[in-house]
Amino acid sequence: MPMPMTSPEIGDEGLLARYPFLPQGRLFIKKMLEENRISVEDLIEAPWLEDVRVKGRLRLVDSVMQEEGAFSISDIDISTEVGRMTEALSFLHAMLVVCASFDERLLSRWIEGEASRADRLMGMDSENFSVISSTYLSGISVERNGDGAEDYWVPMVDFIELCPRISGDYWRLVNRPTRDGWVCLDAGAGESGRERASRLIKERIRESLREACDIRMEKIDDEFAAKFADPVERIVSLLSERVKEEMPMTAAIREDWPPCFESAVSELNQGVNVNHVGRVFLAAFSKAVGLSQEQTCSFFANAPDYDSSTTSYQVNQIFEREYTPHGCAALKTNARCPVGLGDDSLCDQEWLTHPLKYIRAKQRRRYVSSQNDDSSEENAGND
Ligand code: SF4
Repeated sequence: MPMPMTSPEIGDEGLLARYPFLPQGRLFIKKMLEENRISVEDLIEAPWLEDVRVKGRLRLVDSVMQEEGAFSISDIDISTEVGRMTEALSFLHAMLVVCASFDERLLSRWIEGEASRADRLMGMDSENFSVISSTYLSGISVERNGDGAEDYWVPMVDFIELCPRISGDYWRLVNRPTRDGWVCLDAGAGESGRERASRLIKERIRESLREACDIRMEKIDDEFAAKFADPVERIVSLLSERVKEEMPMTAAIREDWPPCFESAVSELNQGVNVNHVGRVFLAAFSKAVGLSQEQTCSFFANAPDYDSSTTSYQVNQIFEREYTPHGCAALKTNARCPVGLGDDSLCDQEWLTHPLKYIRAKQRRRYVSSQNDDSSEENAGND
């Protein structure tokens, strides 16, 4: 059984801001954007929304880096309109960055982090638990047991669908008290009944977030994805440093590289002397797309003036100081843009002002085509 067809109405804007992923939150966020005349461009670069972007980044990093048992609860004061706006729009900003990355690993990790955060928040939120759970389950009722603790009863259809995704004996139907088509979630494994019910609901939140991201990604075109090149670069580059063993975040697919990066790499490889701008660009761009320092240093190994320790030192300086890679205008001025009009249709686009936008657009196309391949395979399987 999927989520309930209709969600209970929620008029409390503080609640919608605290749980912005709720389906009822979509209209709330839309209205907020309209009333404050905020466009996507504003969200990306308007100075007065810097706080939203900073919180969005923190939220994104927090969700993606989340370790078991550790997550931060927002300190934003949602009793004020500005606080509600910052909370809700920071979620939207994080979601747009993740969607515009078209990176499956980043996407699933963010969804998992947001769903886990929701799980914890709900477990502690006795006041709002009922309305949130009714959004995701077809029913829920609470009873006090003989010990005075709360038992949460959920419909068996919901339980049977969701429990296989959760590990542990607690979640096997044979181990749960049942009554007239309902399953009892009482305290267990160190958690209260409400926390156990939240764990179950987390599964629906994950599904619903995935669906919301898929819908959003379908609507994102090359130009829109390119607008998020800068924030996507920041998160990819941060994550590549911090979670490299576990989730290598690299743009290792060479076909996605923009011609300026490709030519710098191949020229050096062939022993051609690349100018200073080209070398700095090569190192800064490598960092931005998540390549390791070692890999970046290896690009210089055939340079005519190669010296291993100087290269390591200089690459390290660029990685440490977080240089932003040069944009198209600077690369053209310094003879590091190898394309002319008509050579590469992406480079001909008016909005293509930075090589990072190129790689974002390429990754979007790769993602869309892999989705199309999957669906044609599914259709073939149904024939
Ligand atoms: S137009 Fe920009 S992205 Fe394309 S090759 Fe030139 S510098 Fe690189």
